[in-house]
Order: sequence, then C-alpha cells, then structure tokens
Amino acid sequence: LRGVVALDGPSGTGKSTVARRLAGSLRSGYLDTGAMYRAVTLAVLRTGGDPAAVAASARLELSTDPTNPTVRLDGVDVSTDIRGPEVTLAVSAVSAVPEVRQALVRQQRDLIASALRSIGGIVVEGRDIGTVVAPDAALKVYLTASPDARAQRRSRQDVAAGRTASVEETLADVQRRDRLDSTRAVSPLRQASDAVEVDTTELDLAGVLAELLAMVDK
Ligand code: C5P
Repeated sequence: LRGVVALDGPSGTGKSTVARRLAGSLRSGYLDTGAMYRAVTLAVLRTGGDPAAVAASARLELSTDPTNPTVRLDGVDVSTDIRGPEVTLAVSAVSAVPEVRQALVRQQRDLIASALRSIGGIVVEGRDIGTVVAPDAALKVYLTASPDARAQRRSRQDVAAGRTASVEETLADVQRRDRLDSTRAVSPLRQASDAVEVDTTELDLAGVLAELLAMVDK
C-alpha cells in the first residue's frame, strides 16, 4: 500500500477488526484513533482533570503495528483499560472538546507521516479520518451496518472480553454514542463526499476484506 486508507463509520460496524486485518494483508501500518480518544478519556477519569488540559499534557504512545496495536499513557500500557465501560460511557463527551480534538489530530497526522516515511502506507480508522485527519487519503471507506447488526457485534465482543450486557443495553449504548458523535459541533461523524460506503450488515469479515482489497491500489 502506498498512502493512506481512511476507514470511518459508527461503532459496531466491524471497523477495528477490518482495519487491522486490512493493514496486515497490505503489510502497512495501522492506526486506531478511537484508542487515542479513549486513552485521553481514561486520563480524565483518573485525574478528574479538565479534558483540554489533560489532552495537552498526557503522553500517548501508539504502536502502528497491526499485529500488536498497543496504546501507552504516560509510559504505561492501557490497551485493555481503555475498553472498559467507564471509558466507553464518557468518551463521546471528551472527544467533543475542541482542544482535545486539536491535540489528537496533530498527533495522528504525525503518526501517519512517520508511517508513510517508514513503510509507505497506513490504514487509519476513526470517525473523521476522511473528512479532517487525512482528507487526501488514497482511499476513503465509510462502513455502515444496521443498528441490530452493530449491537449484536458489540455484545459478542463484550462477551469475548469477559463483560456482559444485554443486546438491548448494547444497542442503546451504540445509539447514544452515534447520536453524540454525529451531532457534536467539531468534526462530527460524517461520510466524506468522496468515500465509498460499504454496508457490512450481511457481510462477514472475509466478505468485507475482499471488497476493500479490491478497491485498494496496491
Ligand atoms: O472507535 P471507538 O469506538 O473506540 O471510538 C471511541 C470514541 O472516540 C467514539 O465514540 C468517538 O466519540 C471518539 N472518536 C472520535 N474521533 C475519532 C475516533 C474516535 O471522536 N477519529
């Protein structure tokens, strides 16, 4: 892969799994920008600090290796802690703060530039990659799926991670986050005008990957 593949969409569309596997197949870098918003949210919850100040002072280190995508916060690996329910509940509010977005978008662009220099290509997933972070991406994909399919996927992931919540609760959470993410003032979740929409409701991972690989200019 030469350049950036931007993968955006709401939660539960299979974005993270697809992005990682795509990066693995293309032997490119991988960047999970949601993990960065989650890490800042974890720091806000732990310190009780103001999100803008926390985003400015927190030291984030992201691995862009798709086989081992870790996040470190002030030197400590928080890859598991950022998936907990407290962070999931608070992350949309923290990521609506303009200073938080400014700080993280800057770091995301640096990480992308460094991956382009070292291995030539990177798959970046999030909510505003095609619209804000990498508007010149070589390929922009917007993943969608029915609310029901998204809630089912999310609750399977929760169970795999040892958490239990009913599909109804998960659906309510997914819809709450979408509403917050798509109505915030700064960089709301939106499909870029030049993004290709892929509906994953009826597709399994292999099916989605095959569609994306066919679009990538290798
Ligand atoms: O992708 P994930 O579900 O881990 O993202 C967690 C949250 O981080 C999203 O619900 C959204 O509020 C925020 N986010 C964002 N912009 C991105 C990536 C994630 O606002 N590029």
